[in-house]
Amino acid sequence: MPWIAIVIGLVAGLVIWTTLDQVQSRQVDKIFGQELEVQLELRARESLIRFDRYLSSYAATTRLLANHRKLSEYLEPLFWSPEETVDPVIYKDFRPTWLPDFFERDALSPPSHVLLTDPSGQVREIFQPGPTQAPAEVASSVPTQFLDEREVRTVIERLGNRLYLLASDAVEDAGGYDMGYLVVLVPVDDAFLAASQRGLNVVRAAVALVDSDDQKIVASLDSQALIPETTLGDWEDTYVITSQALPEYEGANSNLLFATFVPHASVEKMSRHVRIFERRQRFIAAAVYILVFTAVIYLVSSRLNKVLKRMTRFSQRALGIAEPGFDRGGNQLVLLEDWIQHFTQLVLTAREEMSRKHQAEMRESEALKAAMMEASLDAIVTLNHGGRVIEYNPSAERLFGMTRSAAIGVVFTERFMPEVTRAAFKRLLDRSQHLGREPLGRGELIVARADGSEVPVEISIAPIALVDERVYTLYIHDISSRKQAEQEIKSLARFASESPNPILRVTDAGLIVYANSASRPLLRAWEAEPGEGLPADWAAAVSVAARTGRPLERELEISGQVYSLLFAPIRDLGYVNIYARDITAVRRAEQESRQHQAELVHVCRLSTMGEVATGMAHELNQPLSAIVNYANGCTRRLQSGVGQPQELVGAMDQITAQAKRASEIIRRLRALVGKQPPTRTHADLNHLVREVCSFLEFETTRLGVRILLDLSEEAIPICVDLVQIEQVLLNLVGNALDALEMRPEGRRQLRIRSDVDSGKAHVSVADSGPGIAPERIATLFDAFVTTKEKGMGMGLAISQTIVENHEGRIWAESDVGVGSTFHLNLPLAERPADETRDVIESLETLG
Ligand code: ADP
Repeated sequence: MPWIAIVIGLVAGLVIWTTLDQVQSRQVDKIFGQELEVQLELRARESLIRFDRYLSSYAATTRLLANHRKLSEYLEPLFWSPEETVDPVIYKDFRPTWLPDFFERDALSPPSHVLLTDPSGQVREIFQPGPTQAPAEVASSVPTQFLDEREVRTVIERLGNRLYLLASDAVEDAGGYDMGYLVVLVPVDDAFLAASQRGLNVVRAAVALVDSDDQKIVASLDSQALIPETTLGDWEDTYVITSQALPEYEGANSNLLFATFVPHASVEKMSRHVRIFERRQRFIAAAVYILVFTAVIYLVSSRLNKVLKRMTRFSQRALGIAEPGFDRGGNQLVLLEDWIQHFTQLVLTAREEMSRKHQAEMRESEALKAAMMEASLDAIVTLNHGGRVIEYNPSAERLFGMTRSAAIGVVFTERFMPEVTRAAFKRLLDRSQHLGREPLGRGELIVARADGSEVPVEISIAPIALVDERVYTLYIHDISSRKQAEQEIKSLARFASESPNPILRVTDAGLIVYANSASRPLLRAWEAEPGEGLPADWAAAVSVAARTGRPLERELEISGQVYSLLFAPIRDLGYVNIYARDITAVRRAEQESRQHQAELVHVCRLSTMGEVATGMAHELNQPLSAIVNYANGCTRRLQSGVGQPQELVGAMDQITAQAKRASEIIRRLRALVGKQPPTRTHADLNHLVREVCSFLEFETTRLGVRILLDLSEEAIPICVDLVQIEQVLLNLVGNALDALEMRPEGRRQLRIRSDVDSGKAHVSVADSGPGIAPERIATLFDAFVTTKEKGMGMGLAISQTIVENHEGRIWAESDVGVGSTFHLNLPLAERPADETRDVIESLETLG
């Protein structure tokens, strides 16, 4: 492509240059001809001016001579009579005294004669430096047309067959008397013309005086070349001739032209030189022009190439169209044009697509804006530059109690701002302008609703610079509920100080930050004030609560008053709040309740005892009968004297053993009936089960029930009130026996199991009694629920209270017609029980 551009550039340049060259050459010739004419005219004029000046020099010199002191002195004594005619005095070969040598000094052609005439023109004296005599026309008298008494006169005149310059001026003697004229005669010949044209190149130009009547040359600068008496027509082929009229000389007979001759050859040579020079210049200019033009085309085309390549890549990427395929054959420009048309079409299509997309986006954006305006919980109001409402959303309608149509166009401040807040709003508006978009001008103000009521609001102002004006969007958030909430929070904040219970706030390091007035007793006990630290042990409790993040409860007794202190950690802030409660009354009530409960338990136990007393009596009967028998036997043997001491000792041992057994039975009875304060003792659950079973041995035997003991091999350590837990077990086994009594004798079974289940001590009492209806299970442990004729309905209720006091659980499962199982869970003791020692110790204490 660039090479084609270069060739096209060169060819176009050459064609243009050739055409222009021809036109310009013609034009140059024309201009040159005109210019030459002007130049020749100027040259001729210049020559004429020189010539004229030359003549003027003669006039000036003549005046000087005529007025010269020497001449006037010379004339002083002379007197020329007008009447007498005398021959003039002729000075030859020497200069008269009245004539100084001015001509040589002024480089003028020397005169052939200088005449001195009297006032009538009669010649009195003649200076004749050469051999030639004065022309006859002036030799004796100078015609008066050549003389002028007022001024110097110069005339060119043909005298004889020669041309002369006659310069004359009036002369006076020293006394001022008119003496006549001084007349200078200078032949106008080659030398005269040469002197007049001094410095002119004769080869290039010549001048001549021509008689205008017959067009003949009278005198020429170079009489060899321009021969006098030849006509101008003879020289027209050789010279370019310019002729001008000489200035008029008053009184002159001759009518002369001043002609300038420039040889044709020199003109043509110059013309040729100019044309060649001009053509060379033109050629150089054309070459430069072609080069620049070609370079520009080259650059433009290579740039175009680059642009096209870029466009190709761009189009491939952006529009996914194929390359124009410039590498293919065919007219590249046509290909390019096609491709550009295709490309333009695609760009237009893409533009339309973009415009459609843009419009769709605008619509979406409008819809989004409308949705936002509709959905906004805040009132949104847009004001124009003059503060009038131009947009107003539904929330604003609700807030101000005015419809959109009524609000549009009103001045916002006048309609919705109470007088007092207008200045603040104005300031907010000003501030929002200076802040720009971020952050917004924001502030809390009061606005007036349509019904005149006032609402506290938070206003954010976003100035929006549109093309021709600036508008403001106000986001108005009703903060009346927040204000109310703040009031409530403030009043809530007073809660702590108004609370009758002590409330304190401490840091996690135990430093008291706040304490209400009800905290005085606590502060006194701790000997601390707000700003000081808690005592070490309490500070440690605070630190535990803060570290674990879990509330902690402690009790503090101050001179008979008991306080429950709840340490509530506030993790984020690193504080712990201490809420204290005076629980003296609660503790007292608990104490009383415990006492009542113990009494109730006791009463209950007595009632149980009533039931087992008969059995116990029977049981006692056996050892007592055995003792009686053994004692009687011994007595008999001692009385008969047959008894060996050995036999007696055996009988006595039996008596002792039976007595111990009786004593044991009585001890148990006493233990059960006795009223002891509740105490916790380590024991083995299995041992307690066995103990209860042996209590009820008589009853079981009576009912023909064999208790199946399925106890764990390992001792189950518990820490309990032995009497209370025994009573619970006694209740459960007693109830089971009551239930079994309702069943035929062969189907009475009682199984007691014990084990450790899920970290708890567990015992279950299962019977094959009639079972309990499901709807009764829920109320089984309520007080005074009984199905027995003589029952109190307190057994299970008391059992449940006892078990819960021991952090245990009691519950029942039953299948009607199959039997019931009562379960009891108790916490395991931390250290394994030395059950025997503990039990024995406790029993001994009881005993
Ligand atoms: P009381 O034995 O004085 O009735 P309890 O509180 O000991 O009081 O028992 C309440 C009731 O629970 C009993 O009247 C009885 O109806 C029922 N009950 C308790 N244990 C059993 C059991 N093993 N089988 C069936 N019913 C039972």
